[in-house]
Amino acid sequence: MTLTSPNPDPAPPEETRLPSILDLNEDDLTYQVSRLGQPAFRSRQLWRSLYHDGARSFAEMTTLSKQLRSELEERFTISPLESAVELRSADGSTDKVLFKLHDGELIETVLMRYGLDGHRRARRTVCISTQAGCALGCTFCATGQQGFRRQLSPGEIVAQVLHMRRVIRAENSELIAGGAAKRDEVPEITNVVFMGMGEPLANYDNTMQSIAVMNHGQGMNIGARHLTVSTVGLVPEIRKLAREPYQLNLAVSLHAPDDESRSRTMPINKRYPIARLMHACRDYVETTNRRIFFEYVLLDHENDTPEHARKLAALLDGLLCHVNLIPVNPTENGPYERPSDRRSAVFREILRNAGIANTVRQEKGIDINAGCGQLRARALDDAVDAAG
Ligand code: SAH
Ligand code: SF4
Repeated sequence: MTLTSPNPDPAPPEETRLPSILDLNEDDLTYQVSRLGQPAFRSRQLWRSLYHDGARSFAEMTTLSKQLRSELEERFTISPLESAVELRSADGSTDKVLFKLHDGELIETVLMRYGLDGHRRARRTVCISTQAGCALGCTFCATGQQGFRRQLSPGEIVAQVLHMRRVIRAENSELIAGGAAKRDEVPEITNVVFMGMGEPLANYDNTMQSIAVMNHGQGMNIGARHLTVSTVGLVPEIRKLAREPYQLNLAVSLHAPDDESRSRTMPINKRYPIARLMHACRDYVETTNRRIFFEYVLLDHENDTPEHARKLAALLDGLLCHVNLIPVNPTENGPYERPSDRRSAVFREILRNAGIANTVRQEKGIDINAGCGQLRARALDDAVDAAG
């Protein structure tokens, strides 16, 4: 594990802070540029500089006039976050960044590189946060154990992906310059999963605005099919999402096949019990014709018995879906352990025999606490140690 650049700068006082331009949606950006007496094509150039080129300052946007650049600079900042701690896994596949927001809140973002060995289709996936903390209190989750702090703005969500794309672009440039790869062989960010800190559907509007930005063809241009929103199972918002125009992937954190076990680990189950959740999921598949991914964290002797597997198979019977089994990443305060390989294999076998497609999620970044919310506390300890 490597530790770099703990950031000693204090956050500026709130009243002197300019808004981040990344918080504007496309219409607002166009409006702001027109207020400065500029034609519409200037706002398209600005959009491209921000999201396609990934400009970090207005000064480097040389397609814009000097005057427009300085007017923008007086009114806006660009990135609403700065990296406080950066970790890389020993195998080089996974980076985790702890970002500090303008008010001192801390969030985590993970970058996963797949296909470094050339054996799998190369992918670069970013796992992003949508809230600082989370109010939903799932018992196995490090973020849940830390409680809710605040919603992230659209710009704070998007900026996490922009940061990781810069990391990838720098790596790619080195590979190309060294002759190790050709430009079309090295992907930029191929996938974004909303599986970091927080519940994306409890920050619905900001999450959707960030998706519009990521998906925009003149900017980041990440196809909706490469974006996955993960939810704890907020029923009204799942129904709302089904009516959105994007062909997103939806992942539902199920983690137990009956109300008794699910309520034990996921307090939200008391508000939206399994029958209501599954009804919404079935309607979602019918409306969108898209499969749902069910996340199932395997907790030793809690939700991983053959009986649980049989109930899960019955619950998902006939539904267009895929189950991702995730051996739990034990948290510092949690009582849970990973099941043995034998127990996991039996669980999988029961699902497979029932015709339920499933995979065990490839573990990445264990040595850097890449699990949801796990870095925050521990990396701060490390930073304090490193500093002194
Ligand atoms: N709030 C959303 C998205 C963030 S959590 C949700 O709950 O779906 C992303 C995924 O990480 C969820 O499936 C969550 O259950 C899982 N997760 C949380 N804590 C974990 C842990 N300790 N080990 C493995 N997976 C975990
Ligand atoms: Fe929140 Fe998701 Fe963690 Fe549950 S698993 S506490 S919903 S972040």
